[in-house]
Amino acid sequence: MKNQMELIFPSLAENEAFARMVISAFLVGVNPTLSVVSEIRTAVSEAVTNAVVHAYAGTTGRIILRARLTEEHVEIEIEDFGRGIENVEQAMQPFFTTQPDQERTGMGFALMQSFMDEVSVESSPGNGTAVKMIKRLEDAHA
Ligand code: ATP
Ligand code: MG
Repeated sequence: MKNQMELIFPSLAENEAFARMVISAFLVGVNPTLSVVSEIRTAVSEAVTNAVVHAYAGTTGRIILRARLTEEHVEIEIEDFGRGIENVEQAMQPFFTTQPDQERTGMGFALMQSFMDEVSVESSPGNGTAVKMIKRLEDAHA
């Protein structure tokens, strides 16, 4: 099955849950296992939350969620046009956070990496960030 979608929404906190629901709905036709859906939902949620709380901290901006389905996998991209990340390698380290005082544990990227098969981050300080993730679906059919 091949399918794709693109969704644009503002960086409001309520859209973290909205993005989770959208990606679940997008995957319904794949007949994935509950745990696969749950992992993808969590990864998407972490990336969207990062765009809300870090990219657009104190402001509201545009977030794009793209998903593309092939026979083998789902590719997901979360793009923002916010502050960007100075040092992506450092940002992706477990427990690294620039907001230690705001209940952030620095585990967002670590969760994305453990739940998805591939995670890549492109970021340009001042221009924004794109997180691309791939999850294989071959074991997912019930
Ligand atoms: P947690 O996800 O556990 O609540 P966190 O968001 O700080 O904490 P990560 O999601 O791993 O941890 O992100 C690490 C750091 O990378 C963030 O503290 C922030 O500095 C930076 N970052 C992540 N995503 C973005 C983004 N979209 N725009 C700008 N900075 C980002
Ligand atoms: Mg995070």
